Amino acid sequence: MIDLRSDTVTKPSEKMRKAMYEAEVGDDVYGEDPTVNKLEEIAAQTLGKEDALFVTSGTQGNQIAGLVHCKPGQEVIMEAQAHLFVSEAAALSAFAGVQIKTLAGDHGAMKPSDVEAAIRGDDIHEPETGLICIENTHNKAGGAVIPPENMELIYQISKRHDIPVHLDGARLFNASVASQIPVKEFAKYTDSVQFCLSKGLGAPVGSIIAGSSDFIFKARKWRKRLGGGLRQAGVLAAPGIIALEENVKHLEKDHEYAKQLAEGLQNIEGIVIKNKVETNIILIDITKSNKTTEDFLNQLKEHGILAGTFGPNIIRFVTNNGITKKDIDKVILAFQKVLSPSLI
Ligand SMILES: *Cc1c(COP(=O)(O)O)cnc(C)c1O
Repeated sequence: MIDLRSDTVTKPSEKMRKAMYEAEVGDDVYGEDPTVNKLEEIAAQTLGKEDALFVTSGTQGNQIAGLVHCKPGQEVIMEAQAHLFVSEAAALSAFAGVQIKTLAGDHGAMKPSDVEAAIRGDDIHEPETGLICIENTHNKAGGAVIPPENMELIYQISKRHDIPVHLDGARLFNASVASQIPVKEFAKYTDSVQFCLSKGLGAPVGSIIAGSSDFIFKARKWRKRLGGGLRQAGVLAAPGIIALEENVKHLEKDHEYAKQLAEGLQNIEGIVIKNKVETNIILIDITKSNKTTEDFLNQLKEHGILAGTFGPNIIRFVTNNGITKKDIDKVILAFQKVLSPSLI
């Protein structure tokens, strides 16, 4: 199967498995796992933050950030299609006791003036604004890179109002590789950052959150409270180190293949590519094919290809390190067969 459902399907490499086997470990709840400590140090340094914390998933990292930054009864501003709003089972409301204020973005980017207008005043009826979240790359916008300039403007506004900014950077390294701007330059305009080791970077498990020492001190307690305090977690951190040291450069290939796939599909009748392919995500509108999403995906599956649903009549392809150039050619051919079987 050519699995393009997500970049979460990546499997740990042989080198990662060896590193897991050989990892030096200790009890990480006591702060004594040298491999976890090393991963956290590398991550903090890469992001230009004081400290970092290994967490079980991107969702847990985002939740911990919300819990550290916010008090119940506050409001959190984010883009209307943000993962934190649409894909985390309302966890911020359930756990942090906040409500979400969404702003329609342009290719995933919120307008700084909209953010400023959404910040609450001191009216007794209104919630306080407790946090602003930015997602980069933006998943629902098709892996769009949010430019650091946009983040900087929002950060300046946030500082004027004394409100923290959290970056859901599940795919921050994709943004960095695509724009050739170091992750630090994005992280600079945030108070906390979450990124996934387990997506395009290819580690089997885990995310990192990073921020000030004070933020991470509080985050550590929230992680414990949420049941995310792990013991000999070095076996999970070891592939994370390899992900950061060796797999970042592979993202370039993922992006190249995504572009090749988009180019190969763009003249095929019956489908429309919805996004400007900047990173590893391709969104395809299949309305004109007159097939249901389910039928379309099933027919691709018969040709050995897996993709995901992404809203009405939209399917999503995510290139990842299990995909080769040959696979891309096969996918293009399969589309031709599915859409005009009589021609082949
Ligand atoms: C995948 C993802 C997450 C959540 O990460 P998990 O490890 O799956 O919990 C958060 N935000 C974005 C933008 C994502 O793509």
